[in-house]
Amino acid sequence: MQNTLPIVKEPNSVLRGRAQEVDAKDITAKRIQALIADMRATLKNTPDGVGLAAPQVGESLRIFIVSDEAEEIDKTERRRWKEGEQGWERNQEKPYEIREWRYFVFINPEVKNTSKASLEDVEGCLSVPGKFGIVKRYEKITVSAYDENGKKFMRGASRFFARVLQHEFDHLEGVLFVDRTEQFINVAPREENGVSPK
Ligand SMILES: [Zn+2]
Repeated sequence: MQNTLPIVKEPNSVLRGRAQEVDAKDITAKRIQALIADMRATLKNTPDGVGLAAPQVGESLRIFIVSDEAEEIDKTERRRWKEGEQGWERNQEKPYEIREWRYFVFINPEVKNTSKASLEDVEGCLSVPGKFGIVKRYEKITVSAYDENGKKFMRGASRFFARVLQHEFDHLEGVLFVDRTEQFINVAPREENGVSPK
């Protein structure tokens, strides 16, 4: 049974603490498996979110999930650059087919490597509704973590996917994108698709 959980919003102290490691042998335990299932259901019901960290549903544990929509956004962006368009505004209509997204689970993630190069782009956060700002992130990042079966894996990511990983990793450290924002920007709220969750 999966439950859609309410998203914890700022200011709530669970968003500001350092989340606890999950004991590797507990990953397959009912409580953690149920939490992951609920996080999946919650993210699935949040059309404009591509990642969700456990503190955002009130659990101070080092777990986050990322939708493979993040990778699709990167692929689409690369394709469009090749086709000569000037980038792609992510707040426009999604130019790819919406399908049943898979979710990558990261438990006790560790950053193993980062690129020298960084990129600036707009970020928002489900826990900070209505705010958007420019944040500088590493262009590439390599992360190791446990998956939901308790298996260790290593994964490299670049551009938008790398940005999402860094944003979610920050949640486990009690850091929000607003702490890193150099400049806030105005984005008209689009209530119909959940950009500004209530
Ligand atoms: Zn967030």
